[in-house]
This record gives sequence, C-alpha cells and structure tokens, in this order.
Amino acid sequence: MRALWATALLKLQNLDKQMQNIRTRLSLMPAERNRIIASKNAAEAKVAAAEKVVAAHLAMIRRTESEIHALEDKRNRIRQQSALVKKNSEYQTMLAESAMLDQEIGKLESHVLAEMEKTPTLEAAVQEAKKVCAGEIRALKQEYMEFGEAEKSFRQDLEKLRSERLAAAEMLESKILEPYEELLKGNDGDPLVPIQEDGVCGNCSLKLTPQTLSSARAGRFVLCDNCSHLVYDEDL
Ligand SMILES: [Zn+2]
Repeated sequence: MRALWATALLKLQNLDKQMQNIRTRLSLMPAERNRIIASKNAAEAKVAAAEKVVAAHLAMIRRTESEIHALEDKRNRIRQQSALVKKNSEYQTMLAESAMLDQEIGKLESHVLAEMEKTPTLEAAVQEAKKVCAGEIRALKQEYMEFGEAEKSFRQDLEKLRSERLAAAEMLESKILEPYEELLKGNDGDPLVPIQEDGVCGNCSLKLTPQTLSSARAGRFVLCDNCSHLVYDEDL
C-alpha cells in the first residue's frame, strides 16, 4: 500500500497532466485553423487565376477587333476618296495603301480566329478549377466544423478537470502542495515520482540516502536529496 499523501498527490498529478495535455492541444489550434483558412484561400486563388487568364484573353480579342474596325474605317475612307481623285498616280498610291490595309486586316482577322478557338479550352479550365475548388472547400468546411466541435469538447473537459483538481488539491496539506506546485511550474518531468527498485530517484536516477529511503519507506513525505522531486515508496 502506497502512503495516503502519495495516492492523493498522484491523483492531482494525473489531473494536472490531463489538463496540460488539453492545453497543449488547444494551443496548437489557432495554427491549425490558419492552415485550413490558407488552404481555402489557395483553392479560391486557383479559380481567380483561371478567370484572370480568360478575362485577359477576351480583352485581347476585343482590342484586336477594334483595331480591325479602325483599319477598316481607314481603308473605306481611302476607297471613297480614291473615286474622286483625277490623277492616276495619286489613284495608284491610294489603291496600294488600301491593299496594304486589307493585308493587315486579314492578318489580324486570322489572329482573332485562332485566339477564339482557344476560348472554350480556357473557359473549361475555369469550370474545372471551380469544380475542384468546390470539393476542396467542402472538405475544409467539414474539417473546420469538426475542429470547432473538438475545441468545444476540450474546453468542457478542461472545466470538468479544473473542478476535479480543486477538490483533489483540498485533500492535500500545503507543505506537500506547495513544493509540488513549484516543481510543476518548473516543467521538468513529473514532480512526484516513485522510488525505483534499487533505491534510486524516479526522476534523476541518483541513489537516495539511507535516511531518505527509510523515511519514504515509513510513508513520510520526502524529497530527493539530489533533484528535490517528491519521492514515494510504491510498496510500503
Ligand atoms: Zn531525484
């Protein structure tokens, strides 16, 4: 049978460990949440990028088309004017100019046609990106929701443990509780450890003095001579 103080303190230590474990998990949650948000933004950015490609493509087609219209207007004006000129040389110059414009217009028109053929592929890429994005966001939303539920349940557990701890701490004398809490703050292994078979401390593994050992075996509250952790004898 273990000493009563050790049993009571072990219970407290166990509650503290559970609480610490939950606190650690809660502390990792903001980063996890940010990761989910970043994944959602990345999925949406892929759609936006595909849409930008289509928009730039269509704008380029529109620009080329208005360029064609401007050249057509210019050519038509030259043709009208050429009907009025008397001098043959002037007429030939205008004819040549008009032919050059026709050639330029033709080039731009075939360019527009070639570009227009690419439009369905680019638009399909947008649809595909939207589909993939929707799937990703569905999964991320689910994850985010589960996350929120887990967090809620962690907080509830923590509340419950907090009141259990309060009750457990009340069972202990302050001469035991105070050094325990000091060691707990130090965050250097379990404050309370069992003495190992060969009479060494369960924390620092150094041999305890015969006096400390005999006190521990009598069930008294003792500290390790080396690391000052609280030690108890498992089988009195
Ligand atoms: Zn020790």
